[in-house]
Amino acid sequence: MAAISTIRFIETKDQVVFLTFDDGPEPIFTPLALAALKRYQSQATWFILGQQAEQNMEILTDICEAGHDIGVHSYNHVSLTGLPLGQIIQQLERTKALINKATGRFWPFFRPPNGAYNNKVLEAAELTGFLWNVMWSVDPRDYRSSPQQIINHILMNLHPGTIIVLHEVTPSTTQALPILLQEIGKRGYRARSLSQYLTEDK
Ligand SMILES: [Zn+2]
Repeated sequence: MAAISTIRFIETKDQVVFLTFDDGPEPIFTPLALAALKRYQSQATWFILGQQAEQNMEILTDICEAGHDIGVHSYNHVSLTGLPLGQIIQQLERTKALINKATGRFWPFFRPPNGAYNNKVLEAAELTGFLWNVMWSVDPRDYRSSPQQIINHILMNLHPGTIIVLHEVTPSTTQALPILLQEIGKRGYRARSLSQYLTEDK
């Protein structure tokens, strides 16, 4: 069994950043995010909740068909560190099965709710087949920021390989995304999905 690695950024000289969207899929935000990403020929990675996926299965298919990655966040955003191993595995397996049902695929990317993990959580993720525990290096705190604050924070922290955490439940993020993609493009950067830089044979 391959050991799971915790990452906060990706080692690269390329001018790329990795946008990640947590807590979706969501019927309003996700289609708008997909449209913005398509318009700017960009890719991103979703860390989804199984509970959200159940109600939006066709959106999962859309994310996959547009060439983005879908990782697992948990089933219902419970704090995983407080659960017994078996229940953590259940949270991940259940969500993984929904992704597989909608897309026929598995991406080995995991991000626990609130970025909170311990050895037990990592063991559960490893047993469920995940290779990467994906944290972040830039957090614009989009759930309590204006679109302009989100954009400014990201542009001030633009470095090769940065992993940026965003959420699918804030109107600010929805408004910021097209402008953000345009601005990072002007600075010579591109938004890419994790699978374009992380391979399974690490
Ligand atoms: Zn979350």
